[in-house]
Amino acid sequence: MSSSVKVSVVIPVFNEQENLPELIRRSIEACDGMERSYEIILIDDGSRDDSPALIQAAAEKEEGKIVGVLLNRNYGQHAAVMAGFAHAEGDYVVTLDADLQNPPEEIPNIVAKMAEGYDVVGSVRQNRQDSFLRTLPSRMVNKVVQKSTGVNMHDYGCMLRGYTKEIVGTMLQCRERSTFIPVLANTFAHKVTEIPVAHSERADGDSKYSFWKLINLQFDLLTSITTFPLRVLSVLGGLISAFGIGLGILILVLRFIWGSGWAAQGVFTLFAILFILIGAQFIGLGLLGEYIGRIYHDVRDRPRYFVRKVVGREKG
Ligand code: UDP
Ligand code: MG
Repeated sequence: MSSSVKVSVVIPVFNEQENLPELIRRSIEACDGMERSYEIILIDDGSRDDSPALIQAAAEKEEGKIVGVLLNRNYGQHAAVMAGFAHAEGDYVVTLDADLQNPPEEIPNIVAKMAEGYDVVGSVRQNRQDSFLRTLPSRMVNKVVQKSTGVNMHDYGCMLRGYTKEIVGTMLQCRERSTFIPVLANTFAHKVTEIPVAHSERADGDSKYSFWKLINLQFDLLTSITTFPLRVLSVLGGLISAFGIGLGILILVLRFIWGSGWAAQGVFTLFAILFILIGAQFIGLGLLGEYIGRIYHDVRDRPRYFVRKVVGREKG
């Protein structure tokens, strides 16, 4: 592909004043080396430190190279990236974290892989530098996502990724508020690959994810891929009811074999009836869940399909 292809680098920033100068310097250096036109979009996600001022200064100094998008308050990493997507003009869009855990020097490698014709280029962190407690949920999540999207990716937490502008455009059409971008991208992607990237410790500052924010993120991820948990209620109800009915039949049979003195004066029978009723309640909840799941699908208003290519017709 020719060098007329433009690259947008999208970086969400939340209280990263310590890392910004180095991030900007190294990103520009890496992008200059690509010999393609590019823009680096820094989204300030409502930082309360000097980040917005730093971004503004950089955008003025490096006009055309740095674009600053300043949000009025903190909306979360994925919302910030979406805001960046909305302003990206590139044919390839690369996302990156601001904390220098993934070196900006990897940007050209992602772009080179994109140029081979992939829709999505992910990355796998080599020797990940995070604590065990931080990696455990990620590993469980990766397994679940692999099962339900059918796309085999190893590292969903790593935000150093590349997307085509078509994929980005489609993601922007999704109306849901809780998004997990790497998973969303894979629901529309056709050709996906991964490259290994270096991973280092956070350069400065602390992780912007507290324990609860992390839990919230994992739920965003889960609900963005499946409404199956809602169906679990019906299944559970069915099982409990079936157990109750089975118990009832067993009691009836034993009553004929062992006579009326058995079964603790009807206590067991009561239990059997109770199980059937509890089961029925769960089935009712599950039914509600089925409707809610469909409402949820409609509210998200995701594009119904993603056209990869139209053949046999002039482009118009
Ligand atoms: N971030 C953001 N808004 C938030 C939280 C984080 O824009 O509410 C940005 C943050 O500045 C960084 C990236 O998202 O560029 C990843 O955050 P962090 O490194 O704290 O996450 P971790 O590496 O612990 O997953
Ligand atoms: Mg980080």
